[in-house]
Amino acid sequence: MTRLLIVGPPGAGKGTQAARITSGYGVPDISTGDIFRANIKNETPLGVQVKAIIDSGDYVSDELTNALVKSRLEEDDALDGFLLDGYPRTLEQVQYLDELLAGKGQALDAVIQLVADQDEVVARLRKRAIEQGRTDDTEDAIRHRQEVYARETSPLIAVYRDRGLLIEVDGLGEIDDVAGRIADALAERGIAANESSVESA
Ligand code: ADP
Repeated sequence: MTRLLIVGPPGAGKGTQAARITSGYGVPDISTGDIFRANIKNETPLGVQVKAIIDSGDYVSDELTNALVKSRLEEDDALDGFLLDGYPRTLEQVQYLDELLAGKGQALDAVIQLVADQDEVVARLRKRAIEQGRTDDTEDAIRHRQEVYARETSPLIAVYRDRGLLIEVDGLGEIDDVAGRIADALAERGIAANESSVESA
């Protein structure tokens, strides 16, 4: 049973590493950004409600986001562990998650912080804008997302560090190298990957 968070600025490679962790540790990757994007694509009421906010690079309200995560964590695949990717992103979300997990008698095992410098992440997002055409990867939205991250989300790092949960991982370099650093840091905490995936981790 492994309960993990992955945090880092937009463009740090959370989604890429989350995909590795999910196969390596047998936990579902719960990405609030992916869930919002799927809703937008399918034009659900939630998608219609959040599209303009997300395109501008602002955060969706804590109320909507918390409710979304609460119901997602009730699904069968998340009962025995999860990787939350892109949540919590505000101090209010941290508090909500604390209470939600405490109510289930659960606790987090570790928080993976992907560290990457601003110039590098902006360059990556520009590239992704061309490759994937994400509607929040415009120049203005990219800049705005960095500012919102610095203001709203970077304070979370200290909270988890104080709790002794934080694992800082250098997010620069080859995808496999970063994945290896994460696996090593988790192993140091006694969190082991599935046997079948040890090679790739
Ligand atoms: P990135 O890692 O590039 O910031 P994500 O896919 O994690 O991208 O998120 C995309 C957008 O979805 C965010 O800019 C924000 O508008 C919205 N979003 C995702 N997670 C949250 C959250 N926990 N709270 C509020 N808004 C969120």
